[in-house]
Amino acid sequence: MADAWTFNARPPRPPWGVHVPSHKAATRAMSIRQAPLPPVAHLSTPTAAVALVSAGDCVKSGQPVARGSDGCALHATISGTIAAVSTSAGGQVDVAIDSDGRDEWHDSCVPCKAPLALPPRELRRRLLDGGIVGLGGALFPSGLKLDSAPRVRALIINGAECEPWITCDEILLRERATQVVEGARILMHAAGTVHAVIAVETDMPEARIALHDALATSGDDRIGLAVVSAKYPAGGERQLIEMLTGAEVPLGGLPGDVGYLCQNAGTAAAAADLLLLGRPLVSRIVTVTGGGVAEPGNFEVRLGTPLAMLVAAAGGYKGVPARLIVGGPMMGVAQPDDAAAVTAATNCVVAALADDIAPAAPEMPCIRCGDCVQACPARLLPHELLAASRQGHADALRDLHLDACIECGCCDYVCPSMIPLTAAFAAAKAARRSRPS
Ligand code: SF4
Ligand code: SF4
Repeated sequence: MADAWTFNARPPRPPWGVHVPSHKAATRAMSIRQAPLPPVAHLSTPTAAVALVSAGDCVKSGQPVARGSDGCALHATISGTIAAVSTSAGGQVDVAIDSDGRDEWHDSCVPCKAPLALPPRELRRRLLDGGIVGLGGALFPSGLKLDSAPRVRALIINGAECEPWITCDEILLRERATQVVEGARILMHAAGTVHAVIAVETDMPEARIALHDALATSGDDRIGLAVVSAKYPAGGERQLIEMLTGAEVPLGGLPGDVGYLCQNAGTAAAAADLLLLGRPLVSRIVTVTGGGVAEPGNFEVRLGTPLAMLVAAAGGYKGVPARLIVGGPMMGVAQPDDAAAVTAATNCVVAALADDIAPAAPEMPCIRCGDCVQACPARLLPHELLAASRQGHADALRDLHLDACIECGCCDYVCPSMIPLTAAFAAAKAARRSRPS
């Protein structure tokens, strides 16, 4: 019998974070649509890797094409012929596959008959072989994350999708709740814990009902359901742990240090796909939205699909977008064009019209109002960090815990002086990384 474990034992009512307009109405009710298979898939490993294929090789969907130095495999997302293989200066492997249009699956893609009967260590190895990584954006291999947290008090499945515009996890939870619950059971076993909670936000009532039904059907009473405030960035790993348990992950520490392990809801679904259907990570759900898209929606997309093709699947551009962003408007990355390919980290593509974007305002001097301190979810002193970063004061940046900044943009959002604090912190981190040691 499992020990009693409750979430929200000490609801902390954290003062951090901001309430931003959600902009989710256009896509949150849209069922998942299948994006067409790309004629060419462009795949890259997130870390240094070794290629397992050469130009001219024939490959099938789900076949390993590279293996990272961390042990995590990258798989062909379509069947066809390897058009090119290259290795970057950093050791990352890029693979291009010309589609044969048949989408034939590799012989290795077979379901596991009884994943919960496997030893946890073997399950973690299979997650690495299956290329399962954190789909919340970190891309850290799930098998390694589970390996590095030997004493997990509880697993937290993160369905708190706090960034504006993005609804890919919400639609997954609404339409594939059973898959997420089965994935949670697999990840619990791999983590060696008997407690789990699936967290959603207050503005996801349909997802909550779907999960409630899926949990009742599973009969697994070790998994709870929690509802957290729909504020940004509630979906941050450390912030979610704090909201659910009251525990603060120490600066410089990991969630495992306080006994918790977070996995994104999409990651749980991917683990279920791998073990129960035999499908390694070859696709993900992506929200395509913004005023500059004709038919916003949520798409199941093969990794390696060009953004242009994904936007075309959403009816193409409407008007002339002022900005194309991969991710949300708070933490996303503006694109120079739509030539990049969908990766496992691509949760959303926003084609924003000028009306969707707050007009730029001139920066004014800091008035030391403290609003940024109040909003910072990492409990930093953004105004002090700003002064240190602009002075290039490396020791002060270290003492002020620059590395703990998650670049969430909350400080920018509340700053009455319109100071681009987050950009200054990102630049200070980049400068630190490029400095010879
Ligand atoms: S919110 Fe802006 S003006 Fe206020 S203390 Fe922070 S940096 Fe200064
Ligand atoms: S960007 Fe960094 S400093 Fe600003 S609120 Fe977020 S975590 Fe805090």
